[in-house]
Amino acid sequence: LKNQIKLSILSLSENVGFARIAAAAFAAQVDLTLTEIDEIKVAVSEAVSNAVIHGYGENNKEANYIDLLMNLYQNKLEFIVIDYGRGIADIEEARQPSFSTDPERMGLGFVFMESFMDELEVKSKLGQGTTVIMAK
Ligand code: ATP
Ligand code: MG
Repeated sequence: LKNQIKLSILSLSENVGFARIAAAAFAAQVDLTLTEIDEIKVAVSEAVSNAVIHGYGENNKEANYIDLLMNLYQNKLEFIVIDYGRGIADIEEARQPSFSTDPERMGLGFVFMESFMDELEVKSKLGQGTTVIMAK
């Protein structure tokens, strides 16, 4: 492990932009193209907004936190987004393109995370929360 930052972010849609910029700032210590940095920004903000919207429910009134862990290894950047919310019943189904439990949404968040990052792992337990691990 060459570098690490751990952020604890209150679950508010206003804070998704902060997570996005933090991820870009962390990624800037590696020699990446602007396109690659943009891909990381999209992937991390999709994961954090999923935690806000689906993990805790957009209009929740409690002080729920999302953890964003950013790790730099020898030649790999890793971003881990953790919520302690409702969890995902069927991860395989949730990751399908166009699958959403909200008819107003596109169901493309996981598709972006998968296509923009080199590795995507999703772990979840109903009622306990969700962990999304992404690497590039
Ligand atoms: P979009 O991202 O295009 O706005 P979406 O959020 O519904 O739409 P995905 O991001 O691909 O699409 O997520 C698919 C589904 O997985 C969601 O509709 C939701 O049911 C579930 N999901 C994703 N992340 C979480 C989470 N952190 N906690 C609980 N459920 C989640
Ligand atoms: Mg989403």
